Amino acid sequence: MYDLIVVGGGPAGLMAAGTAAAAGARRVLLLEKMEKPARKLRITGKGRCNVTNDRPREEFLAKVRQGADFFGTAFRMFDNRAAVRFIEMLGVPLACERGGRYFPASGKAWDVADALVSWTSRSGAEIRCHAPVASLRIEHNTVAGVVLESGERLEARAVLLATGGVSYPATGSTGEGHEMAYKAGHRIEPLRPALVPLEAEVPKGLKGLALRNVELSLLVNGSAAERRFGEMEFTAEGVMGGAIVLQASRTAVDALSDGNRVEAVIDLKPALSAEKLRNRIGREMASLGNEASVKLLLQKLLPPQLRQIMAKKAALPLSLPLGKLSAQDTERLVSVLKGWRFPVRDYRPFTEAIVTAGGVDLSEVDSLTLESRKIGGLYFAGELLDIDADTGGYNIQVAFSTGYLAGKSAVGTVGVPAHKN
Ligand SMILES: Cc1cc2nc3c(=O)[nH]c(=O)nc-3n(C[C@H](O)[C@H](O)[C@H](O)COP(=O)(O)OP(=O)(O)OC[C@H]3O[C@@H](n4cnc5c(N)ncnc54)[C@H](O)[C@@H]3O)c2cc1C
Repeated sequence: MYDLIVVGGGPAGLMAAGTAAAAGARRVLLLEKMEKPARKLRITGKGRCNVTNDRPREEFLAKVRQGADFFGTAFRMFDNRAAVRFIEMLGVPLACERGGRYFPASGKAWDVADALVSWTSRSGAEIRCHAPVASLRIEHNTVAGVVLESGERLEARAVLLATGGVSYPATGSTGEGHEMAYKAGHRIEPLRPALVPLEAEVPKGLKGLALRNVELSLLVNGSAAERRFGEMEFTAEGVMGGAIVLQASRTAVDALSDGNRVEAVIDLKPALSAEKLRNRIGREMASLGNEASVKLLLQKLLPPQLRQIMAKKAALPLSLPLGKLSAQDTERLVSVLKGWRFPVRDYRPFTEAIVTAGGVDLSEVDSLTLESRKIGGLYFAGELLDIDADTGGYNIQVAFSTGYLAGKSAVGTVGVPAHKN
């Protein structure tokens, strides 16, 4: 009989198992289906692992797009400062970068993952890999244990599901936890890819184009729905990604799923008002001279892949001498540069989504303990829950905070003294 079985060895499950064991629970077992725990954590932040963010509480919670109020309790118990102290205490020094984002100073996500795994073991939790859980055992509305895919049955006083979302499924997160929660009577908020690249109707030839300091707006049925400033890129023909696209994607996914018309508008010169851009163009034209062509003018204003496209949109032949450019021509160019508009057709699949929106319905989970309101002794943590946040280290913090609270509560349930900080 285990005091606690944790299903899933991502950041949420490791934190939960380690916390429960550190608090004194004697028999804590973490079951991970892959060959090693924390596969997803090892590829986060482009292999650098953006563990959390420095923002003050209110600003931090504002980055949690769904479930912020619910998450607030777990965040109070184990916040971003606690996460920084904890990871550094594990022997992984962190560095705070632009935008308050914390990364391991070594630049290696593996350092965070390995340190977390070894802390969990050192705390006294047993970690079993190659151990996929197939179902929960429930008796009289109380959890009794789990059944592995192999058929092995394990008994436990509490079970904590931390199986993640369904994005990047090759890392092991494939949604079995949702199914187990559903079978236990929980409602699952529909799963959608979040922080995901978008498919756009743009001309060919943009693959590899990275745009810095641009403003992306999304229009839903013609009305402004989202605006983001920063970096984006065209990762493949007709596919756009990068920080501001991923952040805006949540709005696009919801709107497209509901059958709405979505368009993107990119302001290529957001730092300049239309007036200032008009003056800038005037200055460039004066310095180039009347004989120079529109092509030379656009060389001053745009990256190579965009010159032909923007000239066409503004109905300006690249060979046109600047001396022949009328005031209306300049006006068209200004409005094209400040409002490059195109349809967003679709979003990419879960295999390319950084996180999963949707999950275990929060109204059926006690935010103070993360215990199921339906099944006694059943707990939840991490991305499996209907909580998702922006890029910037917020999602790993969600996993850590909920893992900590759920691990602690599950230990309380089994009658072990509370963990002393
Ligand atoms: C490419 C990429 C980059 C990212 N970068 C960042 C970043 O820099 N910063 C950030 O904050 N977030 C980032 N994220 C998001 C972040 O990784 C996740 O939100 C976080 O890992 C969720 O943690 P979790 O423990 O809830 O789930 P997961 O990390 O998904 O872990 C779930 C675990 O459960 C196991 N499991 C599933 N089913 C079973 C079963 N039936 N039996 C046993 N085990 C099972 C899985 O194998 C997996 O190990 C990134 C995500 C991706 C895909």
